[in-house]
Parts: sequence; C-alpha cells; structure tokens
Amino acid sequence: MSLKIKFRVLLTQCGEPIENGELIIEGGEIVTVSPVGGEAEETLDLSDHLLMPGFVNAHSHLGLSALGKKLSPAKTFASWIGDLIPLNVALSDEERMRGIRMGADEMKASGVTALADYVADPVLLDSISDLGFRSVLFLETIGFQEERAEAIAEEVEVVLKAHASNCNLGIAPHAPYSVSAKLWQRLDQLAKKYGCLLSTHLAETDEEVLFIERGSGPLIDLLKDRQAFEMSWRVPGTTPTRYLKSLDVLNETVAVHCNFIGDDIDAVQAAVFCPKSTHWFGRTHILPVRKMLDAGIRVALGTDSLASNDSLNFLEEIRMADKLLPDVSRKEILAMATRFGGEILNLPCGKIESGQKADIIGFRIASQGEDWYDMPFDPQRKKVDFYMADGKVRT
Ligand SMILES: [Zn+2]
Repeated sequence: MSLKIKFRVLLTQCGEPIENGELIIEGGEIVTVSPVGGEAEETLDLSDHLLMPGFVNAHSHLGLSALGKKLSPAKTFASWIGDLIPLNVALSDEERMRGIRMGADEMKASGVTALADYVADPVLLDSISDLGFRSVLFLETIGFQEERAEAIAEEVEVVLKAHASNCNLGIAPHAPYSVSAKLWQRLDQLAKKYGCLLSTHLAETDEEVLFIERGSGPLIDLLKDRQAFEMSWRVPGTTPTRYLKSLDVLNETVAVHCNFIGDDIDAVQAAVFCPKSTHWFGRTHILPVRKMLDAGIRVALGTDSLASNDSLNFLEEIRMADKLLPDVSRKEILAMATRFGGEILNLPCGKIESGQKADIIGFRIASQGEDWYDMPFDPQRKKVDFYMADGKVRT
C-alpha cells in the first residue's frame, strides 16, 4: 500500500527545509519527496506539522534501565562503577525486562526510531531486537586478563553466529582499561570476519587517562579489588586514543564520550556525545564537538543509560546538547541527532530522501514565524506528536 503524507515543513537533513509538500511512502520506504502532486492509495494530512527523520540514539544500555535513580555521581568514576556492579547483578530478570520496556517507551515517545545499544548479556539480544527500533546491538565485552582473551573471543563468536540471522550485531570492547590488548585485537578480527561495527567507551575520564598513561589511579584499584587486574600488564604510557591506534583497532569504531580525546581527534572516524550523561557526572571536560565537526568527523548523540542519566527522553538530550555546545548550531545538533547517527551506524535512516526507510517524527506547529530548526527544542516539549517507524504510524 502506498501512502501520501502532506506536511507543512520537512527537515530532510540532506538539504534545505521543504515547505508545503508531500512524501510518498511504500513498503516501509520513502519513495519520493516533492513539493507538489503525487498519487498514492491513502493520504495522511499532516499539513500542520513539521516532519523530520526519527532520532537515532547512538549510544545506550537499555539493560541498565532498571537502575534508574538508584545511583548518584560518586567521588570517582571508578567508585561509580564499583557501586553499579552489585546493583546490576542484584536485578531480577523481571525487573531488568520491565526497565528495558519502560526505557524503550520513553525513547519512542520522545522520537527515537533507531538505536545503538550495548548488550552485556546475550540472553537479552532477541528481546531488545524485538522492541521495534532499527538497531545495532553491540555485544559489550570485558576482559583485562590476557589468559582469558581467547575463551572470551570464542564466546563472542558463538553469539555472533547464533544471532546473525535475526539481529544486526556489532561488538563493543567496553573500554581501554577493561579489555586487554590481546582480546581487543581478537574482537577486531571478529568484527572484520563478520562485517560488524565496533564501538567503545573511549577517553571518558581523567582516571582512564591516568590508567593508560601512567598505570595509576582509582581504576587500577578497582580492577585489583575485583581480581580482574593483569599482573603482567605493561603501562602503554600514552593517551587512551593513541594506545588503541597503536593496536590498529580504531578503524570502523564508533568512539563514545571522548571527553579527554585532546589532540587525538584525527584518530577516530565517528564519535558519540552523550549530553545528559556528561552533565549528570558534572564533567568539566567534554567531547570537542565543534573541533570534530570542523575536522569532518561525524558526531552523533546518545543517552547512555539510566545509571548515569535521569531519563532517556531524547528531546531533553538535544536541549542539553544545545546548552552544552554554544558554538554548535541547532541545525547541526539535529543533524547529530539524526543523519550522523544513521551514517556512523550504517543504518538506512536519519535523513529523508528516496530509498531511505520511513522512520519519521513530527511536531504540530503551534506558532508560525519561528526558525524551523528551533521547533524541536521547545523547552516545554516532552513528546513528539507524530511517530512513524518502518512506514507504520505509532500512536
Ligand atoms: Zn555507555
């Protein structure tokens, strides 16, 4: 069935705004975008709406949603991780699933149609894949002790084979301080073998920099306390980004956070900024978005998890990005929230042009005359007024 959607304004994210036009959709795909005329079996009149691509949440951990409001920013990042682990282990399957569903509903209500989620437990893959998002599910992998590297990589390969037919999988070595060089290189090989994307938390904190540059700081103590440290480990003595570059594992990697990337920005090809999580931790160093965009590096937006955010509402994320990034325009922030996310995750969404999937959100226009790019940033707004995923309208 073909569907014509009349709109007042369309922010395509791949050209100038189009006013008073129509979109034709068929089989879940955008067929044409035109200012006038077009035949379709059904018509949807949204001529009082601004439409744009659905948001792409480029970094989340839905499996941690049940930890919402149970954690607060600790004195050190290492102690926040230390607080998180026992709370996460104590969650029942039922609590975890309830959290996942509530988190997904909150994202959808605020316009998220696509998702890159870090999944620590492969048991959750099918449930998260079935939530209705266009998704990349990154298998979150941890292992700092070299002797376990091969066994962990084998487990990851088993999961890749078992879920390749029904999930769009990626691999996420957790962070430079929690994954050994040996395991990282094996995961990089697996990503190449199975055509998967890689993603990692990179240069998130000064504690990570201290760990990799000097072999000291609270993250060392955390690993030792948990008997997860590698006694034969040699301090890389460089920045986390240069360290991964020296392992030749940063190609095709979506690097998340990068608050302390400093002068190493050209080592990454794609990054994700998590505005509210960054704010929640009270970070003073943040990802140098302006510098990266100017260098042609695509930066997307992510919510991170409810362990370091008070909501998964994506409209709040774009507003926080607007607040934290005074030198980045709202037009650019919307590109980060849509097109750049789709591009860095290799998903056919994030912009509205023929051949893209029909993942579209809309905002009812209350007053004329404002800059169209300002509309989604309305401080009162909690939800989108129109939500279509894969050509299907959700109410
Ligand atoms: Zn994260």
